[in-house]
Amino acid sequence: MKNKEKVSSFKNYVYMLKFISKHTPFMVFGYLFFDVLANLPWTLSNVVLLKYIIDVATEGEALYRVAIALVLFVAFVVVTNLCTTLFYEVSMPKQKEKLYFAIYKTIYEKAAKMDYEAYDNPEYYNDLVLAMNSMNERAYAVLSNTQDILTNIIGVITIGTVIVTIDPVCLVFVAVCVAIMTPIGRLIAKVNVDRTEAMTPLDRKNLYFSRVFYLQDYAKELRLSGAGKMIEDRYNKNILDRIKTIAPYLTKQWKLYFCQESLPMTILIYLGITLLMGYKAIVTKEVSMGDFAATFNGAASISTSVFAITSQFAISIRENGLYVEKFRRFMNAKEKMVSGTKTTVFDKPVTIKFENVSFKYPGTEKYVLKNINLEISPYKKIALVGYNGAGKTTLTNLLLRLYDVTEGVIKVNGVDIRDWDIKAYHKNFAAVFQDFSLFGATLGENVSMDDIPDKDKASKALKAASFNRELPDGMDSILLKEFDDNGVSLSGGEAQKIAISRAFYKNCAFAVLDEPSANLDPVAEYSLNQSMAKAADSKTVLFISHRLSTTVMADEIYMLENGEIIEHGSHEELMSLDGKYAYMFRLQAEKYAER
Ligand code: ADP
Repeated sequence: MKNKEKVSSFKNYVYMLKFISKHTPFMVFGYLFFDVLANLPWTLSNVVLLKYIIDVATEGEALYRVAIALVLFVAFVVVTNLCTTLFYEVSMPKQKEKLYFAIYKTIYEKAAKMDYEAYDNPEYYNDLVLAMNSMNERAYAVLSNTQDILTNIIGVITIGTVIVTIDPVCLVFVAVCVAIMTPIGRLIAKVNVDRTEAMTPLDRKNLYFSRVFYLQDYAKELRLSGAGKMIEDRYNKNILDRIKTIAPYLTKQWKLYFCQESLPMTILIYLGITLLMGYKAIVTKEVSMGDFAATFNGAASISTSVFAITSQFAISIRENGLYVEKFRRFMNAKEKMVSGTKTTVFDKPVTIKFENVSFKYPGTEKYVLKNINLEISPYKKIALVGYNGAGKTTLTNLLLRLYDVTEGVIKVNGVDIRDWDIKAYHKNFAAVFQDFSLFGATLGENVSMDDIPDKDKASKALKAASFNRELPDGMDSILLKEFDDNGVSLSGGEAQKIAISRAFYKNCAFAVLDEPSANLDPVAEYSLNQSMAKAADSKTVLFISHRLSTTVMADEIYMLENGEIIEHGSHEELMSLDGKYAYMFRLQAEKYAER
């Protein structure tokens, strides 16, 4: 292992231990202290108690002394057992929950604060997924690893001291044994790291397969198409690849483990110390039989501990350290979007202006919006139309400041939107996205997006969005099944109406609606248009629509193609222009007529 890696693994451990101590200090103290306490009697009994009993027995001293030693030992074990059982069984599970809560809260808060564009960055996204999936276990593993190391170090020191007092020469055997074991341990650690790295892409594939089988998103396709077989074949191939990839590492590992563990231990400790101390105890009688037993057990125990510290623990330190590193990188990722200071929230619409706006998504080279100029006067209903990929959603993303423009400027009331505090700026907009989400919460909460919904207001908003279904518990009905087995399931159209109702509930100066009627039947679409017309009395509405029947009511229509505005005007103006909008409109009208 390189020195730099060692340092960063160490730093990562310290970072994680600090994090755990900050949120659950008792867990760190209890975990480290109680485990050391629980292990101490056994470590000592193997050497000190054994030596004492043998010495008393062989030297013909009064046996009651053995009884006293045993009683003291048992009493010590009972007390430490009581403490550790109470800690592990009563306190620890609660502490663990607290720790997991702290980890996830930290991750969620950070994820919610990050720029939206961070989701386009695979490195950030991978770190987020990794943090979400494994940080709770890793944090615990760091603690447990530290505990193991500490227990073993204390063991080495205590037993080492005992052996030195009996016969320091034994430590020479131990030192030689360790000197042979340690470099082999490092080699093992390296093979392990190489193996983990070789397996990472295959692990990622495995995760994908499990996602496919547990997420509902894939469930329909899997049932109705041959995709299940296709995925299964790939899965089988991945398993074979895994076995093939891992095989050479296993071959290397078993040889190294054999050389490391068996040979030095057998030759130096079992044979060497037995001969040396056996000779001194039986032939020259320089040491007692108890000393012989104690040094033999002690040397084996020290060698095993050092072996564990240099190989197993070194491997897990590096492995856990890598995860903590990614967690740290995720936590330290800086937001690129700079928040301004302006906090104005308009109570009535003002002018929105795009001036020479061009945009390419971060990390890409292609401009998806080119030199966009548009002005939206207050209270207007503006429709954005165009083929898929024309840039409509991107344009609304820029207005909502989910991304910053690459060139040009967007102004609201004459002020660059980058001058706003982002949170305050967002308060000006009610947005309904094409890929909206409902949450596992009550109907009222889903409309208000608040834990104390104004039920009257929510009910009016739902009506305005043409949601007319009566749910068993009214506004208190739980949606989705995650929190309640009787949670309400909704059709695509119903769900969309709830999403739309949010825009009616959040009474903002501007509404941005991306395909608001995509899942609605014609009747619902008609009543939505009516409600929107009413709501639009008091706000500016910018909406994207593929259903050109809804664009008829817009004051102005912008037709986009390949990131550029190619037509602009009212429905009548664009129809008489007889350009691409008119062509699309007629095509749709025919399709409807055919039905
Ligand atoms: P529309 O809403 O008109 O269908 P979009 O604004 O969604 O079009 O997309 C415009 C172009 O930008 C498309 O070519 C699309 O592939 C690309 N695009 C959209 N989102 C991203 C993204 N997050 N990263 C890179 N390219 C994107």
